[in-house]
Amino acid sequence: MCHAREVRWTVIPRTAPRPWIACGGCGSATPFQSSGKIRLNANGRRLDAWLIYKCLACDRTWNRPIFERRGIRDIDPAVLAALQSNDPDWIRAETFNLDALRRRSARIEEFPDVVVTKDPPQEAPGWTRLTIELVVPLPVSTRLDRLLASELKISRARLKALHDAGALTTSCGRAGALRRRIGTGTRVTIDLAGETGRERSWRPLATGDGP
Ligand SMILES: [Zn+2]
Repeated sequence: MCHAREVRWTVIPRTAPRPWIACGGCGSATPFQSSGKIRLNANGRRLDAWLIYKCLACDRTWNRPIFERRGIRDIDPAVLAALQSNDPDWIRAETFNLDALRRRSARIEEFPDVVVTKDPPQEAPGWTRLTIELVVPLPVSTRLDRLLASELKISRARLKALHDAGALTTSCGRAGALRRRIGTGTRVTIDLAGETGRERSWRPLATGDGP
């Protein structure tokens, strides 16, 4: 008998990527962190916008261009309002803009630490097949096997064994899927019909029901 259960994991990174920039204060390349502040400069009908970063060692600032000399009428009004009000949510999302960071820095330091919210939390006893759908709104450098191992408290070797045996499958279907960084829309299905102690150890961790 197969009782299927679905759960959604929303994965949010804790720490924004840090670009390494040649720091005039330190005299070498150092990691910079967003200050959470925007600097705007109006020039006639054109606008410059920068996100201000600070050297972690000496606090010297570096202005990362968001755009330069952009016609004010060409700027999305919602973006303009976010820039003018230093909207923390908009700025936080922008600190994860890897493409923009890579255009300015050859070295970007990323962090795998994440917060995982599991939904829905209600009980569904007796399942033998679990599907986890990942929602990843910001870029996360965490690999799929590391996320599953950390959240389910099982070893990556065990995950690989389940994958090799066909008991763990992913929607991307590629052989190296477990070692790739996670992304929105990925679905992981784990068939635990043959797993002993399933009720006790797996379900609470997978669904967030646990103590
Ligand atoms: Zn410095």
